[in-house]
Amino acid sequence: MPGLFIDVKVADEVAKNAETAKKLVEVCAVDIFAQNDDGSLRVVEENLDECVLCDLCIDAAPRGSVEVIKLYES
Ligand code: SF4
Repeated sequence: MPGLFIDVKVADEVAKNAETAKKLVEVCAVDIFAQNDDGSLRVVEENLDECVLCDLCIDAAPRGSVEVIKLYES
C-alpha cells in the first residue's frame, strides 16, 4: 500500500542487496527505509508521506532502481 501522497518503489535486486539497503537507510532522513533481519530492504509504508523529495535515495542506489512517485498534482 502506498502512502497517500508518496509511493517509493525499489527494484527487487536492489532491495535484496544488504549494502545498498544500508546506504538507503542512512541517506533517508525521515526513515522511509529499514532493513529486515536478513539485510534486505523494507519500505516503511507508514513513513512514506514524510518524504521530502530530497532525491538522496535515488542518488544512493544504482540508476533507475529507486523511484519516488508523487501521487498528487503540484
Ligand atoms: S526522496 Fe529523500 S525523503 Fe524521500 S524517500 Fe528518498 S531519501 Fe527519503
